[in-house]
Amino acid sequence: METHYIAELPQPTLDSQAFWDGCQRQQLLLQHCGSCRHVFYYARRLCPACGSSELSWQASSGRGTVYSASQVQVAFQGPHWQSQLPYTVVLVDLEEGPRMLSRWAGGPEHRPQMGQRVRVRFVQAQEGQWLPFFEPDEGQRA
Ligand SMILES: [Zn+2]
Repeated sequence: METHYIAELPQPTLDSQAFWDGCQRQQLLLQHCGSCRHVFYYARRLCPACGSSELSWQASSGRGTVYSASQVQVAFQGPHWQSQLPYTVVLVDLEEGPRMLSRWAGGPEHRPQMGQRVRVRFVQAQEGQWLPFFEPDEGQRA
């Protein structure tokens, strides 16, 4: 199993712990509001649409389309990011609705295109942490 070095690993909070636990099981979890049915990302304590605290976690299909992508060439987060360059960040519109900021795992020869179908790919970083990146959805439906 290939391990990817990531300059800064996520630090789960009380609100996001369930999301990161899901990643450890190769599941992309999204919060669903039991009051207004809104589905959202990132993790919050209250529904951003109606303010309800009646929230549950449900598995996403992990599929979506590329809204935008950008190749990062500068270590603007600090010199410890230098070894990561260049890398590509993607904004993915998930099938369930939320737009998610993530990182591209499709390789430099397959640069993300706007509107391209993608799927989540869990990548193992140091310390055994699994992160949700995105890659081309080769098995996409016609
Ligand atoms: Zn709501």
